[in-house]
Amino acid sequence: MRPELSDYKHLSAGKVREIFEIDADHLLMVATDRISAYDFSLEPAIPDKGKILTKTSEFFFDLIDFPNHLAGPLDDERIPEEVLGRAFVVKRLEMVPFECVARGYLTGSGLKEYHATGEVCGIELPEGLEEASKLPEPIFTPATKAEQGNHDENVSYQHVCRHMGKQMADDLREATLKIYTQAADYALSKGIILADTKFEFGIDSNGTLTLADEVLTPDSSRYWPAESYEPGKVQPSFDKQYVRNWLTQKSGWDQSDSTPPPELPGSVVEATRQRYIEAYERLSGKRFC
Ligand code: ATP
Ligand code: MG
Repeated sequence: MRPELSDYKHLSAGKVREIFEIDADHLLMVATDRISAYDFSLEPAIPDKGKILTKTSEFFFDLIDFPNHLAGPLDDERIPEEVLGRAFVVKRLEMVPFECVARGYLTGSGLKEYHATGEVCGIELPEGLEEASKLPEPIFTPATKAEQGNHDENVSYQHVCRHMGKQMADDLREATLKIYTQAADYALSKGIILADTKFEFGIDSNGTLTLADEVLTPDSSRYWPAESYEPGKVQPSFDKQYVRNWLTQKSGWDQSDSTPPPELPGSVVEATRQRYIEAYERLSGKRFC
């Protein structure tokens, strides 16, 4: 008999995920179908998104050559029936309080910073780069983990050194770039550019640096179809960009005002669902069913 979700203590609810305590050493991480953009939870949810993201993370945890926090399979008997397929049993870690971002291409907050200063997170970049330019080499651009409702803020490697010590900052940078490179090479072999991605790390009870959270999903990464890649313009991506574009260009929502965005029409929900499925299927070579 599988346990009930109510048997576990509810520890936290993020915009997308819910965390429960299984025991002192294990957590249940449940991915919901919720979708967020511009720091708002959108309505309605995207059917199956939690399952698609869970399958995507599982695929990459398996592919990537680095210790990770998974503590059992997707059908682990500690997972309640009602969240089966969209939950992981994970090792409870002491989390590093920074988001470890790797960028191979320039876009989003990185591009904004570059336009303002010529640098991203303290890293000087060549002149003349534009939207979606490929960087000379992948860079480590950490960010603070903002409390709910606030924006994450890009910080420098030196900032991470001051908080974590040089050894840990070096380990985080090395791990982030190594995992990014492995994943980006793999994705490219499937015709997909991994423009950037965010990892979270924690330390396990043996002191081992461990890859945690979700990995290499369209929620934590920007994936672009390689066949249509063309620097100088915003790329059609497999992530929430579609929803973001609808919100800012078609929905009539005024982002500068603090009113929540309007409800997503059925066609936008379905098109978004298809993009998440397509990303999973193209990357993993498996069918989502
Ligand atoms: P949001 O993503 O809505 O901005 P959030 O990041 O707090 O907020 P989620 O992403 O839904 O919320 O929840 C995941 C939380 O669990 C994060 O705080 C993450 O750092 C933490 N976490 C991930 N893996 C582990 C782990 N193995 N042990 C302990 N905490 C973890
Ligand atoms: Mg998160």
